[in-house]
Amino acid sequence: MDIRKEHILVVILMAGIIGFFGIPHISQPSCQPVRQVDLDETFLVLPRETDLNVTFSVLPRMSYPQPFLDKPRRTDVLLMSPWLAPIVWEGTFNRDILNAQYRQKNVIVGVATFAVKKYVRFIEGFLGSANKFFLSGHRVNFYLFTDHPEKVPSMKLAPEKRLFIIPVQNYSRWQDISMNRMDIISSHIRSRWRYEVDYLYSMDIDVQMFEHIGVEIIDTLVGTISSWQYTKPRDSNSYERRPESRAAIPSGEGDFYYAASFYGGSVSEVYRLTTACFKGVTEDRANGIEAKWHEESHLNKYLLYHKPTRLLSPEYYWDEELSRPRIVRVKRLSSVRKDLKEVRF
Ligand code: UDP
Ligand code: MN
Repeated sequence: MDIRKEHILVVILMAGIIGFFGIPHISQPSCQPVRQVDLDETFLVLPRETDLNVTFSVLPRMSYPQPFLDKPRRTDVLLMSPWLAPIVWEGTFNRDILNAQYRQKNVIVGVATFAVKKYVRFIEGFLGSANKFFLSGHRVNFYLFTDHPEKVPSMKLAPEKRLFIIPVQNYSRWQDISMNRMDIISSHIRSRWRYEVDYLYSMDIDVQMFEHIGVEIIDTLVGTISSWQYTKPRDSNSYERRPESRAAIPSGEGDFYYAASFYGGSVSEVYRLTTACFKGVTEDRANGIEAKWHEESHLNKYLLYHKPTRLLSPEYYWDEELSRPRIVRVKRLSSVRKDLKEVRF
């Protein structure tokens, strides 16, 4: 082999090696990625995208009295909480405007109510009056929990209203029936209602409606101010004050006293509320304590530290036993008189 052939062989060998491994320090760095970019991570650091969709609906032309800033519709009652949540009173809103807005949204409202043991007797009065006065003209799903599905009277409801009867076990103590509502509501939101409704309200069954309860009740988190305690100073309201209970509200705190007979809001807010309140009930049970007014005490604590976005005045749960003051112009919903000893045992 002469030198020329050797040179050619060396050159071919070198070319092969370079072709196979590449030229060190020249080609390597440009091939190596600087950092693996996670697309999800990139998405997270981007600012939230604003929906610029320009399809929107317009309210129909309507004629109604003009609002004036210096002419409040009511001067005899508080219309706004200190955290700017409206308090709904007769004479402060125009139902036609509200209805026109909500018809476009086509929302579905769920109502959870319980008729266990002797409380089945209240079903007819509740459903009959709710069919007429509750969110008239809007879509409502009534979810009726009962241990006696066969005793639910067959009733013809308005076409936009639907009734779902859900069997539920009974408990020997009436307090447990009442408190377990929170747990049952929270688990039904998780399993089905979050796919079925936009807003959800929990209502006692031993009530009847006498006047319209419309979309003025709809908001993210809604509490009803008790008709028993709407003028009392906070320290005489029946909050749970014993620090051992999870429902305890320290002395000197409290906004309003809310009724557990009627509360609600968006499905996700009611999920948070019922889950938190039932957690409090469970922890109290484990510690051998029961709050003064059962789940209502836990509800009051929750709404103190998670301020409702809208408050319903006592018009929305007026206790039949009380005489009505001038400021409560209408009785929209009222408890049915019951012989406690007879219905609860
Ligand atoms: N409840 C029931 N069966 C009972 C006790 C209570 O179905 O034996 C349900 C029913 O929906 C009732 C709610 O729990 O409206 C709250 O109880 P109740 O109305 O007796 O409480 P109150 O309004 O008198 O505080
Ligand atoms: Mn009741």
